[in-house]
Amino acid sequence: MRKSNLVLDRTEGTEEEAADAPAPGRAPARDGIDDRVQGWWDQLTHAKARDLYCYGMTVDELLPDGRVVVAGKPMLMFASYSYLGLIGHPKIDGAATEAISRYGTGTHGVRLLAGTLPVHRELERAIARFKGTEDALTFSSGYATNLAAITALLTRRDVVICDSLDHASIVDGAVLSRVTFWRFQHNDLGGLERRLQRAGDRGKLVVTDAVFSMDGDVADLPGIVDLCRRHGARLMVDEAHSLGVLGKTGRGVEEHFGMAAGIDIKMGTLSKTIPSAGGYLAGSAKLINMYRHHSRPYIFSAAITPAQAAAATAALQVIEEEPHRVAKVQHNAARLVSGLKAMGLNTLRSETPIVPMICGSQERAYAAARHCHRRGLFVLPVTHPAVPEGLSRLRLTTSALHGDEDIDEALGILESAARAVGLS
Ligand SMILES: *Cc1c(COP(=O)(O)O)cnc(C)c1O
Repeated sequence: MRKSNLVLDRTEGTEEEAADAPAPGRAPARDGIDDRVQGWWDQLTHAKARDLYCYGMTVDELLPDGRVVVAGKPMLMFASYSYLGLIGHPKIDGAATEAISRYGTGTHGVRLLAGTLPVHRELERAIARFKGTEDALTFSSGYATNLAAITALLTRRDVVICDSLDHASIVDGAVLSRVTFWRFQHNDLGGLERRLQRAGDRGKLVVTDAVFSMDGDVADLPGIVDLCRRHGARLMVDEAHSLGVLGKTGRGVEEHFGMAAGIDIKMGTLSKTIPSAGGYLAGSAKLINMYRHHSRPYIFSAAITPAQAAAATAALQVIEEEPHRVAKVQHNAARLVSGLKAMGLNTLRSETPIVPMICGSQERAYAAARHCHRRGLFVLPVTHPAVPEGLSRLRLTTSALHGDEDIDEALGILESAARAVGLS
């Protein structure tokens, strides 16, 4: 077993020398590119030297009780997106193994040419059924899905209006489309309405995360749907953190609010609750047909592998067959939020398994994370620019694998961390 510090891997010293050496055969350039590369190197070296670097920790083993083994030590995992604890589920692993034995490990192609297998169409039918749409389409990642969803639909005449906390892939899709791109303040429906009015009769697409990935709060879907209807705008919702998490049967944000319709483009990933990789769009048959033939991330990037597709299909079945998992993660989220609140800590408006514990400064967030790591709790700090300055936090996530005793153990460690960094 390699010995390494949990938060600081000091085994990379040899790369430092490599970075200093000039590339062979290249004259020194004054274009600033080397300076930028060096700048990143210096920043990282500085962070590591001050023990402020704790990303990319290697998880050596996943234990069945939801703990993980890092550097030889079991840790309570409170930083995973495996909300329903489906990684390693025998039915899902079995489906992936069977797909490999039947089709092998790759597809050697994009879907439109030779890359479509029965497992892809089965998955798309399963997604459409699960989300209550006519059809669905899968992409190689959730990130690529958001690029596709916006770039293929809009032209320069159109306007895309996003919540300020929407995921980076939505922002990138809007930028890549070269459309007019406006953002409204997080969950500020007045701000959304003013922008819809200003857009007038141009084509309008409103895009929101269902559950916001840094704050853990839920978009006001009824309010947003109402505004979109009144102003003739299309609505796209990113369900990366709500699929399997919101609603009695885990079908997502519409089920959470008891709404049957209102979302034109339902986007999600196969990499969070669903233990696979890839992303999907679900919607009307005509819309999906357009994406199938007109979106560059679909046309120019290879199909997801047979094992990924089969695993995702099986995972949707498991969510339907084992609804107790959905109830459990919702119970755990409530227990974690109320426990932190009872200690007087700020969890913003989280009501999901993503629970921010606000620490304030970046230094406090890192110190709190290190305190937790030393006590066997795997959590990660999130700081500026991912979140606003002064709102650095520990970003906690709970899963259906946690028992009440795990939540309480984590709360105990978090309480001591809060005290150690002067939060309470
Ligand atoms: C993770 C995430 C994505 C990207 O999904 P990947 O499958 O990881 O590429 C998109 N949107 C949101 C809100 C996410 O959290």
